[in-house]
Amino acid sequence: MALLSVVIPAYNEEPNIQNTAAVLTGLLQQERIPYELLFISDGSKDRTFEMIQAEAQKDSRIKGLEFSRNFGKEAAIFAGLRMAAGDCCVVMDCDLQHPPQTILSMYRLWEQGYEVVEGVKANRGREKWTYKLSAGLFYKLLSRMTHVQMADSSDFKLIDRKVIDVLNSLPERNTFFRALSFWTGFRSVAVEYEVQERAYGKSKWSVSGLVKYAFSNITSFSSAPLQLVTGLGIVFLVIAVVLGIQTLVKYFTHQAVEGFTTVILLILITGGILMMSLGIMGYYLAKIYDEVKDRPRYIIGRMTENMKDPEEKD
Ligand code: UDP
Ligand code: MG
Repeated sequence: MALLSVVIPAYNEEPNIQNTAAVLTGLLQQERIPYELLFISDGSKDRTFEMIQAEAQKDSRIKGLEFSRNFGKEAAIFAGLRMAAGDCCVVMDCDLQHPPQTILSMYRLWEQGYEVVEGVKANRGREKWTYKLSAGLFYKLLSRMTHVQMADSSDFKLIDRKVIDVLNSLPERNTFFRALSFWTGFRSVAVEYEVQERAYGKSKWSVSGLVKYAFSNITSFSSAPLQLVTGLGIVFLVIAVVLGIQTLVKYFTHQAVEGFTTVILLILITGGILMMSLGIMGYYLAKIYDEVKDRPRYIIGRMTENMKDPEEKD
């Protein structure tokens, strides 16, 4: 039977590792699915990696590594995909908010020939309303900009070896796993799941973190903000022509008014928009700078003994 790799990013998930490993092992053994569990500790400050090591000693199919510092969930996902040996791979959270049972439906669909199985949130669980609202807005915006339907999507998905290889071969650093699996194409299908309560510990996301995440993902996947700058320019040009004609007519008919207020307002508005546009362009420039430096996406600090880098072998 085909090997399933489960990639689990974990940042300060000390209280969750043992439970998550036990739940997944129990489930996959019961269903007789060959598996490996890959825990990627994202520079955790607690004893997450020690917990992973303890699990690895009990079961050689449980492996893990730890980054030298926190590199973010995206990096953890991609490290996991690179280490995965499976014929297919599921990415899921460490806190069991993604119901393990759904993995089975995903695996069965994969056996039927689907290459990307998207986990879609049936509800958003008991998230704060501010979070729901901002997440809703973010995905609406992103769907519009990228032309992929992304509302209610999540990082919970199963992808085939073919897709893993494509994602592993991407040269870029600023990735967005959620949208990239859409982008690769392939035969895909969606599975609905109910978001569960976090098993132990608390969420790592802050509001500022989410805003940063949203902005970085939009820009990594779409150049629409740059076109927004062009759009604003056109709008302003039209206004400039109309105002210009009006001003000239008034001037030549000797009814030019003082209009100092208008001048101040115009300077302030144009100044504001110019600076914002520069900011947007600067953001893309910074992204390009990031890519050009060609630094590794993550640095591995430690690995469990049973873990080996698949690429070092060949
Ligand atoms: N996570 C990570 N690196 C980070 C933040 C989070 O690997 O910098 C992991 C975390 O351990 C968890 C998953 O990403 O497995 C989702 O995080 P969390 O549960 O805190 O977010 P929420 O479910 O509230 O969106
Ligand atoms: Mg969570």
